[in-house]
Parts: sequence; structure tokens; C-alpha cells
Amino acid sequence: MKIIIVGTGISGLTAYHFLHRFLTPLLPNLQIDAYESYKSPSIGIGGTLGLAPNGLYTIKLISQEAHSAILASGFPCAKFEFRNSNGKVLGLMSTGSPDRYPGTGGEVMHSRAAIYGEILKVLEEQGARIHYGKTVVGVVPKEEGVEVTFKDGEVVMADLVIGADGIKSTVRKAAFPGVEARFEGLVGVGSTITYSAVPSSEHPKEIPYDYKNSKYSPTVMTFGSNGFFGYSPINSKTGDEGRYQWWSTAESDSEDRDLPIEEIERQLLERHKDWVNPEGEKVIDSIIRFAIQQHKDSAETDRSKRILVLPNYFMQTMEQYHSDDGKILLMGDSAHVMPPHSGQGVSLASEDGYVYARLLAHEIQRTKAAESKDYKTALSTAGKYYTEMRKPRSDKIMAIAAKSGNMKRNLSWWEEKSRDFFFGLFLRFAPDSIHDGTFGYKVDEEVDKFLSTKS
Ligand SMILES: Cc1cc2nc3c(=O)[nH]c(=O)nc-3n(C[C@H](O)[C@H](O)[C@H](O)COP(=O)(O)OP(=O)(O)OC[C@H]3O[C@@H](n4cnc5c(N)ncnc54)[C@H](O)[C@@H]3O)c2cc1C
Repeated sequence: MKIIIVGTGISGLTAYHFLHRFLTPLLPNLQIDAYESYKSPSIGIGGTLGLAPNGLYTIKLISQEAHSAILASGFPCAKFEFRNSNGKVLGLMSTGSPDRYPGTGGEVMHSRAAIYGEILKVLEEQGARIHYGKTVVGVVPKEEGVEVTFKDGEVVMADLVIGADGIKSTVRKAAFPGVEARFEGLVGVGSTITYSAVPSSEHPKEIPYDYKNSKYSPTVMTFGSNGFFGYSPINSKTGDEGRYQWWSTAESDSEDRDLPIEEIERQLLERHKDWVNPEGEKVIDSIIRFAIQQHKDSAETDRSKRILVLPNYFMQTMEQYHSDDGKILLMGDSAHVMPPHSGQGVSLASEDGYVYARLLAHEIQRTKAAESKDYKTALSTAGKYYTEMRKPRSDKIMAIAAKSGNMKRNLSWWEEKSRDFFFGLFLRFAPDSIHDGTFGYKVDEEVDKFLSTKS
């Protein structure tokens, strides 16, 4: 069997690993090739994100070492503190503690590049066939398989093509025309602050040089009437080795990612100029000035200090993630675009790969496809089961994310007051169990349960 994976972000790498693991014992002739537009691994590229307990659970199934390394180098974040821009604390929300979700490590704040780097290491050790600098431009189903065409003119046939090619997926466009991600009118801007760059006397107020001995919550999310501002450590170190992430999200009618730094600076300072912490201090203004200075001083030489502009995208829910014959399949953001405020982009992407690999292995065994070399029934049933398992979960998480994104839009005086009131009530009375469906998802047990209803 020949499988092509388009894209090697988190979903592509995870799918590769699990397909290789579960299919190799069944199919001696298995060949998996992954193709990636980037000319080399995207090490060091990207910003920061929250990795939820369910994502960490799946990463542990890939590799105990990768899981431990991610936990050790990220910031374990058990709670978010929510405030409004006038400095009022609206409440605290549990984000997934290790006690509630044992064995996962809880929620961690980390750089996307570090998570990607740990998973890539596992793939490299297993000798994965990843071809860089290869952009797929066409995917056409044929009687004998699926024809994949590259920008450089090469054409390759496969029995199965997996689109793990992100928000603007070429595979989705080719196989599921009419479904497209669109800019949702919200743009996030953010970066990582590295303390070693400046003397401690110049560090932003409140963001503690030593957060462990601070009276403040380390992870703060502030809502205003014209956007949102969040910050959190992304490692557990203090002093010069401490690193923080910050991000500002607000409405915009432009999805231009290449705004000049002076324009970014102007917009940020204007948007957050009156925002204060509970003590009336302009902490956010001070973080912005610090980050802008860091960008101007070192972004040319050090990517990690750059301010990134990330437009948020929305996509209607898809009817299915597989073509009817099961020969083309979507995973991760190509199937379900997760905005950053879902906190689930990486986690759902990694679950997808595990689920599909187990389902396909099951169907190959059930249909004895290894002996007959006829994969048709196995592919079509595995595709159908994959959508059946994944779509309800992704749709639900996307709907929750859309609601929380709306709190970051421009609000009238009345809308702002009502948000503070109802969100405050929610934070006060919502039980910790509210996240169990999302965070407590154990992907291996869920596949076992699903398959037990099918045999
Ligand atoms: C470099 C990078 C940095 C990111 N930084 C952040 C961040 O800071 N914060 C955040 O919340 N999310 C970030 N994301 C998105 C986040 O990683 C994803 O939302 C999530 O992990 C789901 O991953 P995915 O594998 O489905 O898609 P992606 O991570 O988008 O990966 C898709 C991959 O497919 C490749 N690709 C696309 N089209 C083609 C094609 N035609 N042919 C071949 N290859 C193709 C892309 O180059 C990419 O490597 C980033 C993604 C990337 C690629």
C-alpha cells in the first residue's frame, strides 16, 4: 500500500507516526511518503500556544520521551485569571490540572516550534520519508488510486492521500470543492519576551521576573470593549532564563501579516492605552513597549523575538472528512480549522492521526486486505468511521471557540457590562468538570469503545 501525506505540521507528523506503527506489522509492502512545502523543517518558526491535557495524552502515545521533554521545557498552567480592562478580576478558570487529568501533565504553555521539534525528532529516529520543498498543486481521484501533482511537475500515484496541509488546504480544495476557510475579522498579534535582553529594572511591571514569588497570577487574560490581551510564562524558569508570551486579539478588516512594525506599534498602543491591572497600573502598555523594543533591536537576527501577526480563520463544518471511496482524507486544520482561542489546534490534530491509523489497521485486518491486496472496502469503511468518530467532537469544540472569539470583538457599553456579568457568573459557578469532555479524552480508549460497537 502506498500512502501520501501532504503537509508535515503536527497532524501530518502524527498521522505518519501512527500509520507506520499500526500498519507496518500488517502490510509488508507499506510505503508512506510525506511532502512538505517548506524547504526544511519549520524549526524555530511560529509563536506560542496552549497545549491541552488531551493533546499531551496523545503525544505520550507517540513517545514518552517527547511527552516528558515538552512538559519539562514548557510552563504548566493550571489556571487562567480573567480580568476586564478596568482592572476588575472577573474570576479564575481551571485549564486542566495534572491532578484532574492524571498521566497527562495538565495544560502547558509552550512554543509551537518546540512541540513540533519533539515530535519531528521521533519521526527522524524512525526514518520517516519526509520530502521538503515539495508543494502539492493537484489531487485527482482515478480508478487505480489518487494522482498527486507537485509544483515542480512531478506526478505520483497513491492508494491513499491524507491532506494534513492546514487552513488553506490544497487537498480540501481539490477533493471537497466549495468548502473554504475565510478570515473571521479577528487578528492576533504577539511575541515572546526574553528577559535576558534587558536589565531587570526595565522589565514590564507585574510580569514578575520571579513569578514563583509573586503575588500575581502568572497567566492573565484581559477583555476590553475593543479586544483582548493575554500573557503567560512559557517556561518554568525565573530570572534571565524566564520567557513570557503575550498576545493581543482584536477586530480588523485586514488579514495582512506583513504590517510594518511601526503600524503594529501604533495599533497596539492605541488599542490598549487605557487598560490597567487591579492596582491601576498600565502593565499591558509596558509589555507592548518592551516587546516592540525587543523586536526593533533583534528581530532581524533572532526569529524568536519577532512580533507575529496571525489572522484568525473560520470554516463551516464539513459534512465528512473523507471522500466516499475513502482514498482521500483530511486531518487537523484542513478538516476543522481551529482558531487559536480554541486552545485545541495541536491537540485535535494529533488525535486525528491516532484515530485514523487505528481504524484503518482494524479494517485491513477485518477485510484481510493484506492477502488480497484489495484495499477498497478497508479504505471506504475506515474513512466513514473516521468521520463518524471525529466530526462530532471537532464540531463541538469549534462551536465553543466561535463563542469565545466573539468576546474579543468590539462591544457596546451594554454588551461589555453584560459580558463581564455573565462571564463572571460562569467563572464563579462552572465546575472543574466542565472541561472533562475535551481534556479528559483518552484517544486510545475512545477508539476501543468505538470499535467494540462495530465488530
Ligand atoms: C510554521 C507554523 C507556525 C505556527 N505557529 C502557530 C502559533 O504560533 N500559534 C498557533 O495557535 N498556531 C500556530 N500554527 C498552527 C498550529 O500548529 C496548527 O493550528 C495545529 O497544529 C494544526 O496543525 P496542522 O498540522 O493541521 O496544520 P499546520 O500546522 O498548518 O501544518 C500544515 C503543513 O502543511 C504544509 N503545506 C500546506 N500546503 C501544502 C502543500 N500544498 N503542499 C505541501 N505542504 C503543504 C505547511 O507548510 C505546513 O507545514 C502554526 C503552524 C505552522 C505551520
